Amino acid sequence: MTEIIQQGLAAFGLDPAAAPVLARYGQLLLEKNQVMNLTAITEPAQVATLHMLDCAALASHWDLTGKRLIDVGTGAGFPGVVLRVLVPSLRVTLLDSLQKRLTWLEELSEALELSEIHTLHGRAEEPGALRERFDIATARAVADLSVLCELCLPYVAAGGLFLAMKGVDSEAEISRAKNAIRLLGGRIESVWDYDIPGTKVAHRVVAIRKTSSTPPKYPRRFAQIKKQPL
Ligand code: SAM
Repeated sequence: MTEIIQQGLAAFGLDPAAAPVLARYGQLLLEKNQVMNLTAITEPAQVATLHMLDCAALASHWDLTGKRLIDVGTGAGFPGVVLRVLVPSLRVTLLDSLQKRLTWLEELSEALELSEIHTLHGRAEEPGALRERFDIATARAVADLSVLCELCLPYVAAGGLFLAMKGVDSEAEISRAKNAIRLLGGRIESVWDYDIPGTKVAHRVVAIRKTSSTPPKYPRRFAQIKKQPL
């Protein structure tokens, strides 16, 4: 894995020195995956490309230095942990509703000697005191964009960004989310398509700028978000 990641980071213009740590992360992920459902990807080379390099794309395109970032529905730490490895000054909160995944992420942070990683067990639609406390929110493979915006934009402070990782076939999904984005205080700033180095896979990031505070009535309860997306 180390070599594939090294080459991919270099292709993205990132420092390849982080490759051994990301490869160790991949190795620990595959070991734990034998006893806990963490990923459907089980080939080391694919873990290197489809997890590590896919997530590294964000750090190649946005300056994350010193930012406060929340990764909503982080699962096995994607993209939050990868970004923290690549940007040591990043302060990362990993949010998930499954405690056992977070417990593993705590063990992982210790094994990789990563500080400034905090885990948060809860439902994304209940931001509480963390409302508008982050410069950046990220999410990959969590929900349809209109639902996702209601889960993620409330965490972002005005002026900050929500980076939604999507497939390149997401035109209709993006169109459907436009009303939600406007109601939640955001605007689409850019749609960036990238190739994952070493693969034929193209993915997309929809970057949504938070232009004003999210009205207090959002997010709604999850049943309602699902039943009646904005
Ligand atoms: N982001 C990771 C990735 O790209 O590999 C994990 C994706 S996994 C398919 C979705 C994760 O989102 C799961 O770990 C699930 O527990 C979490 N999740 C889904 N809905 C959530 C919610 N409303 N609040 C918190 N976590 C949620």
